[in-house]
Amino acid sequence: MKLNQQGLLIVLSGPSGVGKATVRKALFEMDDHNFTYSISMTTRKPREGEVDGVDYYFVSEEEFESRIKQGRFLEFARFVGNYYGTPMDEVEKMIANGDEVVLEIEVEGAMQVKAKMPDAVLIFIAPPTFNALKTRLLRRGTEPEEIIMERLSKAHRELTLAAGYDYIVINDDVENAADRIKAIIRAEHARCRRSLKGYLQLLEENENE
Ligand code: 5GP
Repeated sequence: MKLNQQGLLIVLSGPSGVGKATVRKALFEMDDHNFTYSISMTTRKPREGEVDGVDYYFVSEEEFESRIKQGRFLEFARFVGNYYGTPMDEVEKMIANGDEVVLEIEVEGAMQVKAKMPDAVLIFIAPPTFNALKTRLLRRGTEPEEIIMERLSKAHRELTLAAGYDYIVINDDVENAADRIKAIIRAEHARCRRSLKGYLQLLEENENE
């Protein structure tokens, strides 16, 4: 018996360098899910290899601020000198479509989502050690040293905010972390408040056949 699955909003956060994007990609490769990634908007300049409309929508400060005024973000925040935000209309469409919508955002934005959409599932991806973060950020080599130091000090603060999340997943190994996230998502779909109504409807339809 298969219930009609409702849309689900999944928020993934974690400090810079924790490997969120890698875990998310591993998650998206798993079968029998209909994950959709919500592409964020940012005023940060594209890194080498990043594509507009795939990794982010890259816009100017003016464009971003005009969208804030128009109330077009589900959430937004400033992070190390740039704006980042989730376009509202796209997320609404995807959820209505029954998708499992994944946002990959920092903590301030995640708390805004929690306030606006209490049904969202908030997952914090944490590093096994702080040194692991430092090594990964340095190895990535996409930012100058002062930005890396700023990201690391931000990471310290972010770790203390993990308490506001529903789940914490330690990224000791990408496949393991993705597996645990998948288990969380399965359990969340089975929550009575999400699935009981659909189940009762199904029972009724079966009886009327
Ligand atoms: P990066 O510059 O490394 O791509 O992203 C910096 C931080 O901004 C990361 O923690 C990333 O998850 C977060 N971020 C990306 N998109 C959004 C968004 O739409 N909203 C918020 N609040 N944070 C975002």
